[in-house]
Amino acid sequence: MLENKKILVLAPHTDDGELGCGGLISKAVRQGATVFYAAFSTADESVPTTFPSNQLEIEVKQATAIIGIQPENLFIYKHTVRKLNYVRQEILEEMIKLRSQIKPDIVILPSRNDIHQDHSTVTAEGIRAFKNCSILGYELIWNNLSFATDYFCVLKEDDIQKKINALAAYKTQEGKGYMSPDFIRSMATVRGTQINTMHAEAFEVIRWIDN
Ligand SMILES: [Zn+2]
Repeated sequence: MLENKKILVLAPHTDDGELGCGGLISKAVRQGATVFYAAFSTADESVPTTFPSNQLEIEVKQATAIIGIQPENLFIYKHTVRKLNYVRQEILEEMIKLRSQIKPDIVILPSRNDIHQDHSTVTAEGIRAFKNCSILGYELIWNNLSFATDYFCVLKEDDIQKKINALAAYKTQEGKGYMSPDFIRSMATVRGTQINTMHAEAFEVIRWIDN
């Protein structure tokens, strides 16, 4: 399914992509896919003052490398956190550039049921820009009012470990419940149990095109 595909992950903020589909990214890389990652805000305004303001940019570079993304396939935009909707059209145009540059087969973005204002902006513009690609919606349960588990990506222990290691690179986010290895592992166990396997990540199918 993921073999040799070009996969583009859209992250409103650095860390959303690893949280939502870090396991799938690891598996896809293992299977020979090329994974691209675009983050639309490095949330400089939210970084604790004990860190440099560009700390999240440093952390996303480390985290995506751990999970197997090549540095040249990482795109970082510096929009203001919680104000992505103010620059909706700019974001759409950046996505259209990515579309012509990458020509992805599969685009993965936040669920359509994600209520965070920045996440819903990226999802709306992402569906608009990539309507001719397969599109999956990833799960961030603290922002999802509901979630349709349409597509399951079965993961190996190594994929879970890479996801945990990647998230550990986010020193600025330490202490948040959803960053903990226990939570990551438990969530993968819940989704795995739904399909009688050890570990999985679940996704909404927004659009699927079988070429
Ligand atoms: Zn976010």
